[in-house]
Amino acid sequence: MGVPLLDLKAQYRELKTELDAAIGEVMENASFIGGPKVAALEAEIASYCGTAHAVACANGTDALFLIMAALGIGKGDEVITTPFTFWATVECIAHVGATPVFVDIEPGTYNIDVSQLEAAITPRTKAILPVHIFGQCVDMDPLLEIAERHGLIVIEDACQAIGATYKGKRAGSLARAAAFSFFPSKNLGCAGDGGIITTDDAELAARARKLASHGTSKKYYHDAFGTNSRLDTLQAAILSVKLPHLDRWNAERRAAAAVYGELLSGVAGLELPAMREYGEAVYHLFIVKAESAEAAERIMTAMKEEGIGTALYYPVALHEQDAFATLEGWVRPSLPVAESCDARTFALPCFPGITRAQQEEVVAAVKGALG
Ligand SMILES: *Cc1c(COP(=O)(O)O)cnc(C)c1O
Repeated sequence: MGVPLLDLKAQYRELKTELDAAIGEVMENASFIGGPKVAALEAEIASYCGTAHAVACANGTDALFLIMAALGIGKGDEVITTPFTFWATVECIAHVGATPVFVDIEPGTYNIDVSQLEAAITPRTKAILPVHIFGQCVDMDPLLEIAERHGLIVIEDACQAIGATYKGKRAGSLARAAAFSFFPSKNLGCAGDGGIITTDDAELAARARKLASHGTSKKYYHDAFGTNSRLDTLQAAILSVKLPHLDRWNAERRAAAAVYGELLSGVAGLELPAMREYGEAVYHLFIVKAESAEAAERIMTAMKEEGIGTALYYPVALHEQDAFATLEGWVRPSLPVAESCDARTFALPCFPGITRAQQEEVVAAVKGALG
């Protein structure tokens, strides 16, 4: 029968009437950039995350870049982050001219290992960029305590974690500013690219907004070299229809994860994700770890033969990527936990609306390959 990794068509069918009406309204108005729908979405996301401000932009990568640029992070600065994330996290550090410094991850959660953070701080360290990977928050309290003691800025890469909580607070409200992505496959996705910044810092929000709009304070007057990073009105309209459903979708992802926990408990040769008590994860991806790259390959091949969606997250840790060869003075660190995940950690289908029967089909394929 087959099971997709993510079923976006089902999500469209569920909300077709509302989505088509919202899209139709934007087309009728023929006002495609900015306007009240983008402002409304910003207010809704700020309220959802529990921050004073939200600034929409073109994608999650730009959200990260705009935060860094607005904070004046640049040449000579070091930014500490995780090697186990999507490439955009580190790209934005390099693009503002700063140097990425990697700290290894903890096994199980795949999040940055906060206990190793302090050893990576130097006089040049300016900021820490934790990523709430796969939808589970980083242990922020000890991280923030270290940052405070060393006078460092903390920025959340919350692109995979919209709706996730840490000690009762939502991702996006846990540090100086946060970046979210509305890429279609994210937990809250639009029909193309989109992103947003959340922050309590009014000045930072204003600077990021200005940089996202060509450094413009008044039309055709520019007091900064910014860029063009706006969220389309159509995308804002679509996201406003979807946002009220996000908590339910995230709850369905958590329920699906619990079913995998039950069906796969005690299965030898497969490590299930470790979950922390301090908050609720949103399972952007349900990641399992095989005993070797060969075993992962074997299981994934068996899944694909049954028409089951899967992919490696991630095939290669970031500090091992070729692009670093172009970075002056770069010395590749040794990060054994992240390296132990190379080509071994992969996703099982885990999306809103997945049925128990579908999950049983996935588990049967996985168990079959494990022998
Ligand atoms: C998706 C993602 C991004 C980038 O978002 P885009 O909207 O694709 O630019 C950044 N960081 C992480 C962790 C992501 O998952």
